[in-house]
Amino acid sequence: AAKTTKARFRRYAVELDDRADEEARLGAEMRAALDAGRFTLVYQPIVSLPDGEIRYVESLIRWDKRSPAEFIPVAERNGLIVELGEWILRTACAQFVAWQAAYGEDAPERISVNVSARQLAEPGFAWVVADALAANGMAPGHLIVEVTETAVFGGGVAVRAVKELHELGVKIALDDFGTGHSSLGLLQTVPVDVLKVDKSFVDNLALAGRHAVIATALIQVADGLGLTAVAEGVETAEQALSLYELGYRLAQGYHFGRPVPEPAFRGIGAAAR
Ligand code: C2E
Ligand code: CA
Ligand code: CA
Ligand code: CA
Repeated sequence: AAKTTKARFRRYAVELDDRADEEARLGAEMRAALDAGRFTLVYQPIVSLPDGEIRYVESLIRWDKRSPAEFIPVAERNGLIVELGEWILRTACAQFVAWQAAYGEDAPERISVNVSARQLAEPGFAWVVADALAANGMAPGHLIVEVTETAVFGGGVAVRAVKELHELGVKIALDDFGTGHSSLGLLQTVPVDVLKVDKSFVDNLALAGRHAVIATALIQVADGLGLTAVAEGVETAEQALSLYELGYRLAQGYHFGRPVPEPAFRGIGAAAR
C-alpha cells in the first residue's frame, strides 16, 4: 500500500510540474505577444430596448483563437495583467475618441473596460486610468470600469481604487451581478452605477420560473437604487422581449451583436460620411 501511495504522489507531483510548465510557457508567449502587438480588442454593443440602438460598447480582449477566460487568469497570476491591462485601457479610450470624432451623435455614449482584481489592487490604479483618459482628451463619464464581485469582495485597496475612480467621474459596473456571495451587500460598500445582470438569469427566462423571479428582483434593486441595469448574454428575441416586459432597458448579447473590431454604428450621420 505504501508503494502505491508513493507512486500516486509521484504522479501527482509530475502533473503539478506539467501544469506549472504549461503556465510558464503560456506566460512567456503572452509576454512576446504583447511586445509584438498581437493582442487586439473587439467591441460588443450594449443596446437599448426595445429599439436595439447601440448605446455603449464593451471592450473584450482577443489573442489568436484563445479564450480570454483561459489566458487572463494566467496574466493575473504572473502579473502581466498590469501592463496588459494598461494597454487595454489606453487602446479602448483611443478607439472611443476616434469613434466620437468619426460618428459624432451616432457614436456610442460610453465604452466599458474589464478590470481584474490584480489591477485594482495595484497602488495608483486610479492614476493609470486618469492618465489614459487625459492622454486621449476623454471625459471620465464616458468610461465604464467593469469589476467583478470577487475583485472587490476583499475590501481594502480594491475598494479604495473603485472609490477613487468613482470620484474621478468614471462609471463603475458590477459584472456578472448576482452570481457572487455578496451581491447585495457590496452595493452598500462600493459606489456602483451599472449592474450587469449575469447571463445565467437571462437563460430560460421564458420558462417564467426561478430565473424570471430573480431577474425581476434584480431590476427592482437597480431601479430602486437609481442604477442602470444591463442584461447580459441575450441570445434570442424572446429573451429580449421578456426582459423588456420585466423593465430592462439595456441589453447585450449575440442577439444584438457579437464582439467585433468595429460595430455598425448606424444612423444618417454615419451614412452621410
Ligand atoms: P465577461 O466580462 O462577463 O464578458 C462577457 C463574455 O460573454 C464575453 O466572452 C462575450 O463574448 C460573451 N458573450 C457576450 N454575449 C454573449 C451571448 O449572447 N452568449 C454567450 N454564450 N456569450 C456571450 P469573452 O470575450 O470570451 O470573455 C470572457 C471573459 O474574459 C470576460 O467575461 C472577462 O471576464 C474576461 N475578459 C475578456 N476581455 C477582458 C479584458 O480586456 N480584461 C479583463 N481583465 N478580462 C477580460
Ligand atoms: Ca464584462
Ligand atoms: Ca459579464
Ligand atoms: Ca463573466
